[in-house]
Amino acid sequence: MDKISVIVPCFNEEEVLPLFYKEVVHTLEKIQNIDYEILFINDGSQDHSEDILKLLAHKNKHCFYYSFSRNFGKEAAMYAGLENASGDYVVIMDADLQHPPYLLESMYQALKYEDYDCCAGKRIDRIGENKLRNFLSHSFYKVIQYLTKMDMDDGAGDFRMMTRQMVDAILELKEYNRYMKGMFSFVGFNTKWLEFHNVERPAGKTKWSFKSLFSYAFKGIFSFSSTPITMAGVIGGILILIACFISLYSIFIHHLSYLTSLVLFLSGIQLVFVAILGQYCSSCYFESKQRPIYIIKNTNKKV
Ligand code: UDP
Ligand code: MG
Repeated sequence: MDKISVIVPCFNEEEVLPLFYKEVVHTLEKIQNIDYEILFINDGSQDHSEDILKLLAHKNKHCFYYSFSRNFGKEAAMYAGLENASGDYVVIMDADLQHPPYLLESMYQALKYEDYDCCAGKRIDRIGENKLRNFLSHSFYKVIQYLTKMDMDDGAGDFRMMTRQMVDAILELKEYNRYMKGMFSFVGFNTKWLEFHNVERPAGKTKWSFKSLFSYAFKGIFSFSSTPITMAGVIGGILILIACFISLYSIFIHHLSYLTSLVLFLSGIQLVFVAILGQYCSSCYFESKQRPIYIIKNTNKKV
């Protein structure tokens, strides 16, 4: 009998967890001839999420929770889930029901009978979401695709079912700065896409502020591409040429204010490039420390 592991990162999700549990268990129990486990990764929630998870785990022997010692972020939660999942097929899905559970059965069929290694949900619209966030997100995916030359589509999130082989491949990537969307693309494998319409959260609020989304976006770029450094070199070279021409020109007409703004502009550019270099250095710095990606404080799973 095949076993499906469902990984659910949760951060302050007390309002939606009971709903999520009901829908997902109902869906999983309808799939014929499978065993399942649901791993709730409680990412340092400050509300009553842990109490609810304890109750669910007590009620259903297929449910397990892992509570982190603090908020380590969704990437760390997904990694903890992948490390602890024992299923032949592993699903990652959000706790807020924005990843429709009804797709689970089709995902399983695709992996089991159609020979795919991964079956992922792709959101085809963003109706009901903040317009500015949609625009920024769309632009970010254009930039990251260009910079990394990897297939990272807007709308393609972390919601997917993977074979054990693909999960093991992802677990081989042990980096501290984790960017799962890049990793799915990096490990390759055959992916089938299932489209779905955006579903609004039934309760609770998004856990992402603009600030955290920006830092997530930069993490994605810096952990999967060195193109910004190459671009820095090229732009630096072009600016040196321009500066040479302007210097020669200003020697003849002594236009000093023009020179001042040029110097300011060039030092600004230099600072930006120093910052880009700094980003890569700081990534190396954190990788070299080899700190744990997450720390579990509490779990009902016996090791
Ligand atoms: N999440 C998490 N840790 C965090 C932030 C979010 O585990 O630091 C979880 C959250 O509980 C949810 C999923 O990640 O299950 C997606 O978060 P959210 O719904 O806030 O993101 P959005 O759908 O707005 O992109
Ligand atoms: Mg959500």
